[in-house]
Amino acid sequence: MTEKTILSVRGLSYTYPDGTKALQGVDLDVRQGEKVAFMGANGSGKSTFFLHLNGVYKPSAGSVYIDGVPINYSRKGLLQVRRKVGIVFQDPDSQLFSASVAQEISFGVLNLGASQEEAKNKVDAVIEELEIAPFREKPTHFLSGGQKKRVSIADIAVMEPDIIILDEPSSALDPYHVEMIDALIDRLSQRGITVLLSTHDVERAMCWADRVVLFCEGKIAAQGSPEEIFSQEELMELTHLKKPVIYQLFDSLKDAGMLPQGLPVPRTVQQLTHYIEHAKENKEQRSKTQQL
Ligand code: ADP
Ligand code: MG
Repeated sequence: MTEKTILSVRGLSYTYPDGTKALQGVDLDVRQGEKVAFMGANGSGKSTFFLHLNGVYKPSAGSVYIDGVPINYSRKGLLQVRRKVGIVFQDPDSQLFSASVAQEISFGVLNLGASQEEAKNKVDAVIEELEIAPFREKPTHFLSGGQKKRVSIADIAVMEPDIIILDEPSSALDPYHVEMIDALIDRLSQRGITVLLSTHDVERAMCWADRVVLFCEGKIAAQGSPEEIFSQEELMELTHLKKPVIYQLFDSLKDAGMLPQGLPVPRTVQQLTHYIEHAKENKEQRSKTQQL
């Protein structure tokens, strides 16, 4: 992550034509290369917020800035924004429109001006990465929900925008494909791409995110590191979330005296295992010293 602010949102409000106030005065800054998890109950405004970040929706009030420049909603302005910001929609059917999978994934890259050969190389690479080859010539409307989801992610990843936004990328996927997408997201981050995603998976947010942003009723209820957010029980209840199991286990081991107080909250199972092994070694060491 760098110090540079790549995305800023100020006073963003949005009311749907039927009068639903979906967003009410949202402010946010995201740094280049940051990994941000958006969480919150269904209907709290996450998808509506995301659709503002590449100009699909125009705010009722407030502004969105990419690299310090406010979004220009002219045709040309939006084209420029979409080179920088790619969104994978929550519902793949709103995104996929080409006849075949291979055409669908090539469309965006060719549209950005890549040569046929360059486009083919990029498309082949992402097709291999997401194991799409078995259905690459199929019409997109014949795919299963999970296959559509992978194609919609490939669609955006292949264009390598500076910012990638994924709206519930793991929904409709089995555990094998969840892992595949998680690995792809990690590779995108390693390339310095800024990743914003929405998820209900607290375990994943705990180990992945630099920052958790909690939405509640169209506003940001809280934001901070996963440890900060997930330690606040009232907040978790308000937003229909549960404390990550790893965090609960860590607390129980401390309460039982099996781990010392003052350790940083572990983000991964490996880290917790390491704490437990270390505590065990210390205990063995102490009992040996006492025997002497
Ligand atoms: P989330 O992604 O957090 O589940 P959404 O952004 O989809 O939340 O929805 C925020 C609010 O806007 C909800 O009250 C939802 O019912 C409403 N909403 C979403 N889409 C529309 C729409 N097209 N027309 C009217 N209301 C909508
Ligand atoms: Mg949503």
